[in-house]
Amino acid sequence: MRAVTVPFFISHQGCPHTCVFCDQRAISGSRGNLPDRQRIRAAIGSWQRSAAGRPLEVAFFGGSFTALPEQVQNELLAPVHPFLESGVVRSIRVSTRPDCLDGAVVRRLAGQGVAAIEVGVQSMDDAVLALSGRGHDAAASEAALRCIRGEGLAAGAQLMPGLPGDTPAGALRSLERVIAAGAAFVRLYPVVVLGGTELAQRYQAGEYRPLDREEGIALCKQLLHKAMRAGIDVIRIGLQAGDGLNSATVLAGCWHPALGQLVRSELYFDLLRQLTASLPHDAPFRVACHPSRLSDVIGQKRRNLDRLRPSGALIPVRPDDSLLAEEVMVEYLEQYFRGSIVTDLNYNISEV
Ligand code: SF4
Repeated sequence: MRAVTVPFFISHQGCPHTCVFCDQRAISGSRGNLPDRQRIRAAIGSWQRSAAGRPLEVAFFGGSFTALPEQVQNELLAPVHPFLESGVVRSIRVSTRPDCLDGAVVRRLAGQGVAAIEVGVQSMDDAVLALSGRGHDAAASEAALRCIRGEGLAAGAQLMPGLPGDTPAGALRSLERVIAAGAAFVRLYPVVVLGGTELAQRYQAGEYRPLDREEGIALCKQLLHKAMRAGIDVIRIGLQAGDGLNSATVLAGCWHPALGQLVRSELYFDLLRQLTASLPHDAPFRVACHPSRLSDVIGQKRRNLDRLRPSGALIPVRPDDSLLAEEVMVEYLEQYFRGSIVTDLNYNISEV
């Protein structure tokens, strides 16, 4: 049963750096105060009541957990332990910088119930990392991911396509390298330029241009596709709408409150376009897909169907639970064309 996440934002706490894109206060909507024992207990209790029996996972996001003084880390983890022992909380996850952990740190955290560590990798290109003021290189990320995995924990990698100096091919290589280093899951955060950051100054001075939404979606669909082919979970695409982001804080970049759905939907569109390519113009075909994927296949505001049939003629879409979630089937007269976004789609990097 999938766990319900109980999030605590430790905004910028523990982090000695200022990456050019980072304004953790805007991202987390928090002023950066660490939650105290009472707040942690109360939040878990509250989530427990609304989780309807599902297990909880406590997550400390933002900042760099392992850069906090060890005593502070212990104070954050200790209130969770009774809930771990009672089974209310299944596991804990933390996020941190790649240069703030080693085997001893990972073992200490594992001994306190931490089961997953997410590493802010952003890019595996040293030039991109330097231009972004990250203060570490790709080798540090590789070592961190290998270390976490080697100690038996789940390693996660956060990637940020579109940073200064990055290219679509470079972003795809970054994904390949974190997968090779042992990442079990990734988050994709295409760059969003936030007011008050150094990146905002560069953007306003005309020295930097982020991926716009369409470019970000075109790249993220290829990243998602590559991850799916490798059997890697992409647990998030794009910053969350509730992360303190709004038109006042977001100056530019690839941001949409439902970016993940837009990206997934593109995979189904590309597959449908491929499967219908040989049909006569305006052929009256129908589409079937797994019930859980209806909205992805249809697209927001029926965008996928409208693009497949510019004349506006109706394309019926029916749910079919005999299909896998990643499959669609095109039905035309007595012919059936079945395909999978994982195994039947092929992308060329020049399409990005
Ligand atoms: S390491 Fe993380 S918290 Fe620190 S400045 Fe960079 S992005 Fe922000």
